[in-house]
Amino acid sequence: MSPPAGPRGPACADDAVVRLGLNESAYGPLPAVAEVLREGVSDTNRYPDFLPDDTRARIAQHLRLPGAQVTVGAGATGVALAVLQAALRRGAARGVDAPEMLTATPTFDGYPILAEMLGMRLEAVPLDDVGRVDLAAMRAAVTARTVAVVVCSPHNPTGSVVDESELHEFVRSLPAGVITVFDEAYVEFSRHSPDLWRLIRTFDDLLVLRTFSKAYGLAALRVGYGVGGRQIVTEVRRFELPFGVGSAAIAAVPVALAAEDELAQRVRSMRAERDRMADMLRAIGCPVLPSEGNFLFLPGIEGVAIGHLLRGCGVSTKECRGHGTRITVGDRSSTDYLVASLRLTAQTA
Ligand code: PMP
Repeated sequence: MSPPAGPRGPACADDAVVRLGLNESAYGPLPAVAEVLREGVSDTNRYPDFLPDDTRARIAQHLRLPGAQVTVGAGATGVALAVLQAALRRGAARGVDAPEMLTATPTFDGYPILAEMLGMRLEAVPLDDVGRVDLAAMRAAVTARTVAVVVCSPHNPTGSVVDESELHEFVRSLPAGVITVFDEAYVEFSRHSPDLWRLIRTFDDLLVLRTFSKAYGLAALRVGYGVGGRQIVTEVRRFELPFGVGSAAIAAVPVALAAEDELAQRVRSMRAERDRMADMLRAIGCPVLPSEGNFLFLPGIEGVAIGHLLRGCGVSTKECRGHGTRITVGDRSSTDYLVASLRLTAQTA
């Protein structure tokens, strides 16, 4: 069994032959994006825009929103850093001396890292038994020190999505001033995302995060954005880093947004591959949670053990500290390789 022609090579941080550990897109840039990136290569001696105002305007136009409702940063991670800084500033203004961030656990590793960087205490609430964000338990964990609450949908690592009306009820129940970060890094892969416009119209203290790293396949460019009401976006924009969004990202974003049809085609393929991979894994007895992201989660110790087996076969996956293993959906050949690896291991065990 030879490894597939999919993502691999020396660029893999862990020397994996199949790289399924970071929820990357299985595809490189769209052809028009690759072209604009090639054109920009000779201008690297020049600084990019001081602030990403043109990029902001393009994203806003794409979403049919005013530019004042969009903030742009170095990936959704950069925007998350900015919104958490804004939350800390609000907390300081109302005299919170030991500010807390509330998240689900397990979650995207970036949140514990950002909490540590910013000196915030992290209050992490376990997911429910089927890998969903437990909004009732999260609400119960809010204290007078909570300055920010993070809800990811689709959730990393399980791929679960929150119900729109439950989300509204949850955000409505939060104390005034607490910022909700609604992280939609994987929204393009989901069929059940809450209405963005209704959400930001209804809640002043909520910022929706999105990124070009996942469906658009531009993780290396580091560009993401936040969308919300004018007031919260104004507060977050105070933390936009000067020259923080690079020229390659600035050039790529309008082209990527314009390539809607090609993106939709890719997303359809990735969803189809996700569903095929889930079926194949279930058919050989692996536990797989339903997922609306570009990844699957295999829960429990069985999931952890499967992750170990796969890593032994050169497939990098993400182990979520004893909770299970997350596997990114790659291309067809990587799915075939990983399923064949598991079959072979079972036969030779
Ligand atoms: N949010 C979630 C839920 C993620 O899983 C990730 C990346 N794995 C991010 C945000 C960060 O993405 P970006 O590359 O845009 O910083």
